Amino acid sequence: MSIGKLLGLTVLAKPLTSEEGRRILERDHYRCQYCGFDGMSSFENSLCMTVDFVHPRAKRGRKDPSNLVAACRPCNVIKGYRLFRDFQHAKAFVQQRRQALRQAWEVDAVKAQAPAETVGV
Ligand SMILES: [Zn+2]
Repeated sequence: MSIGKLLGLTVLAKPLTSEEGRRILERDHYRCQYCGFDGMSSFENSLCMTVDFVHPRAKRGRKDPSNLVAACRPCNVIKGYRLFRDFQHAKAFVQQRRQALRQAWEVDAVKAQAPAETVGV
């Protein structure tokens, strides 16, 4: 079974045929074009891959390969329905947002590891 078949459910969730989605994922080597996440490295990773409309479909983005990129689900969710001038601007936004989320997570992770009496000090 090809990875394209394994990804069928993910691709069908979008208004692309599984064949159209598979073509985009193959073109982009199953790698998230926003963060570099490798959708080929494991079955679990393959389940995280989606196809993103750079210009959102909800805002009349075209179902054209030039408007479609492979994206991991977190990056796709972070980008949401926002409009960007082009892919590079969308990528910069997603990377900044991921960095902010990482910093917030690291603060929480430090707190979670601290002895109970120091929490909230
Ligand atoms: Zn990603």
